[in-house]
Amino acid sequence: GLVIKNINKSFGSNQVLYDINFEVKDGDFVSLLGPSGCGKTTILRIINGLETADTGAVIVNGEDITKVPVEKRNIGMVFQNYALFPTMSVAKNIGYGLNIRKKSKEEIAEKVDWALKLVKLEGMGDRKITKLSGGQQQRVALARALVIEPSILLLDEPLSALDRKIRAEMQYELRNIQQNIGITTIFVTHDQEEALTMSDKIILMNKGVIEQEADPINLYNYPKSIFASDFLGKAN
Ligand code: ATP
Repeated sequence: GLVIKNINKSFGSNQVLYDINFEVKDGDFVSLLGPSGCGKTTILRIINGLETADTGAVIVNGEDITKVPVEKRNIGMVFQNYALFPTMSVAKNIGYGLNIRKKSKEEIAEKVDWALKLVKLEGMGDRKITKLSGGQQQRVALARALVIEPSILLLDEPLSALDRKIRAEMQYELRNIQQNIGITTIFVTHDQEEALTMSDKIILMNKGVIEQEADPINLYNYPKSIFASDFLGKAN
């Protein structure tokens, strides 16, 4: 599991996170939910080491990784715009992290095949990224994050670029894959409906502060603040 302890973060004089504390149990799917700019992405970047917190600690499976450099953290991330390499094939994109970790050709081929199967893109390794639909690109990004067998999976609004129908399908698929391999996951979204349908637990944020933390049913039925009740009631 993951423990986030006393995280504060400022960019210059702009404090964006205030004493953030939460835990994610092994295998749980937890959403960070809140309006644009409340600090969700910054939390993910602190967890994977792309950003350094001013105070506090990130603890993964009992190990304090706060000072571990980004390339040594075994954390998978899917970015909002997928950040795929457009000139590389599907397989090259997925194997990228294994390649830079100097794995053998055989091991890379084997793991890439496993990941392709996992996201239901079997046999599509040679395709060009630019020839894929948005939903398929999404699957490639997910496969690329999972191929390194990370201890934590971080998802930054991975479905927001997809149209409604594909989005609903991917919500289901994503949860299916996550439960299938039992990976501890943090999912960032500003969409309350998405968080309510998908999560084991929701961490609701506002302006750098955790407003409330609860499972979907309790959060929806017992919002503890006007902010929470407004945000959950409003259709985006
Ligand atoms: P969004 O959904 O729009 O990405 P968010 O909840 O993920 O919103 P963050 O991206 O974490 O929010 O941003 C929180 C605040 O920190 C914002 O005010 C943003 O402008 C600021 N911020 C984020 N990264 C930087 C940076 N590298 N330098 C300066 N300010 C930053």
